[in-house]
Amino acid sequence: MFKLTYKHERIPLKRTFTISRGSRDAIDVVYVALESEGITGYGEAAPNHRYNETAESVIAVFKSFDTDGIDNPYDSVHVNEYIGSLHKGEYSAKAALEMAFLDWVGKKLKTPVHRLWNAPSTTGPKTSFTIGIDEPSLIAEKVKEAEAFPILKVKLGSPYDREIIEEIRKATSKPVLVDANEGWKTVEVAMENIRFLVDMNIELIEQPMPSSMHAEMTRLKQLSEIPLIADESFTGREDLGELSHAFHGINIKLMKTGSMRFAMQKIAEARKHGLKVMIGCMVETSLADTASAILSLWADYADIDGHLLVGRNPFSGVVIDKNGYVTLNDKYGLGVELAESIFD
Ligand code: MG
Repeated sequence: MFKLTYKHERIPLKRTFTISRGSRDAIDVVYVALESEGITGYGEAAPNHRYNETAESVIAVFKSFDTDGIDNPYDSVHVNEYIGSLHKGEYSAKAALEMAFLDWVGKKLKTPVHRLWNAPSTTGPKTSFTIGIDEPSLIAEKVKEAEAFPILKVKLGSPYDREIIEEIRKATSKPVLVDANEGWKTVEVAMENIRFLVDMNIELIEQPMPSSMHAEMTRLKQLSEIPLIADESFTGREDLGELSHAFHGINIKLMKTGSMRFAMQKIAEARKHGLKVMIGCMVETSLADTASAILSLWADYADIDGHLLVGRNPFSGVVIDKNGYVTLNDKYGLGVELAESIFD
């Protein structure tokens, strides 16, 4: 019998974060704790407005969650199916619940989740560090702040994209990925930008065009010299065969797939279709980022910097080592620790 408690927090960001769709100074997260036999498993939801999720909708899921439906917490297939069957959508809440059960099971079995899943190592790829849209004149300073990170991910989709990239390239020769967040609305505009980005030695482009423009993206893939990664075009439920016509890879995020277990299946499926795999994150604390980091042990690229952007982080777990690699610890469960009591 599990006792469920949750806690909503509005967390300030270290810096205002701007992407093509708007700016934010703070984020909402809802933590969930599942306690049984003196052991507590933790999960985190970072609700996404794009998918009509809010802290309130996450809390509604947690309030209505009947833990009696979990007969056997060790049966991850059953846990996953039960959580999935309760609501339409609400993937961030579902991800949090599954995370908490996995954390509990790992702690109960005195085993890290990455060992339960036979991860090839405890070190994932190097993570990129995200630079949001900003005045071109401030970019050099932001590159300096990101000195410790070997790969930069730059948000585009502003009227001064080229100035931003030129400023980045004046400041550093590091590998740079760009994320247009659906900002380019025609193949012609996208190709003009891509030609420029080829000259600027950009490694990858995430979501150049709107997710509704699959046909245009398919044309773009034929033309682009830079690999294209689906983010908004991949929420977890799309046909990966179809997606492989329009993209070279997919960005899997726990808050979109709603489940670590399901995300693992998607990694395997992506491989069958020749798709590269990036594990991304939302702006979230070390709790959800540690769960994402576990998935990254099987991925080509990691973009797990959410916990580095938040101004408050009650959890510790994943560490980015001095060379920028995503590094897991050997603590039981997900490998997170809560520094203070946050559940009333
Ligand atoms: Mg993205």
